[in-house]
Amino acid sequence: MNLSQMFSQEQKKEELQLEFPLKGFGKDRIKKATPLFLSLENIGKGKVEIKGECELEFTLACDRCLSPVPTRLPLRFERIVYAPGMEIPEEEDDQGFMDEYDLNLELLLEEELQVCWPTKILCHEDCKGICPSCGQNLNEGSCGCDTFVPDIRFANLMDIFKGNE
Ligand SMILES: [Zn+2]
Ligand SMILES: [Zn+2]
Repeated sequence: MNLSQMFSQEQKKEELQLEFPLKGFGKDRIKKATPLFLSLENIGKGKVEIKGECELEFTLACDRCLSPVPTRLPLRFERIVYAPGMEIPEEEDDQGFMDEYDLNLELLLEEELQVCWPTKILCHEDCKGICPSCGQNLNEGSCGCDTFVPDIRFANLMDIFKGNE
């Protein structure tokens, strides 16, 4: 996406609606994507503010039991991009998605996606996970394995107490 006109025409504003570019995003995992709304606005010489908004639907694996979890991910971002030769403030230092006057939208989206990626995926709040010895999904019933794992920190503490006796 070439931004040279956006950079040079003060107060120019453009609003676009695009298909979310699925390729390069683990397409198989994205189930659905709403159209991507983009607004570009010249906010001074050589400076363009980019706002984007869309919603993605993924199927991700539960962190504990690995079963598939349908996940909705709203993607919203605001970034300022700079024309070549402009001084870039430190907090916007990372402009790897800009190549001269060209915006690599996919790279930008990838970066923003990482920022808003959920930190934890659970099929439900109290998912019991899988048995560490036999791999049984414990939400579907217990397996009868002896899963008692002594806590090493606690064991060390016990040693200390014993030593003090
Ligand atoms: Zn789970
Ligand atoms: Zn088991």
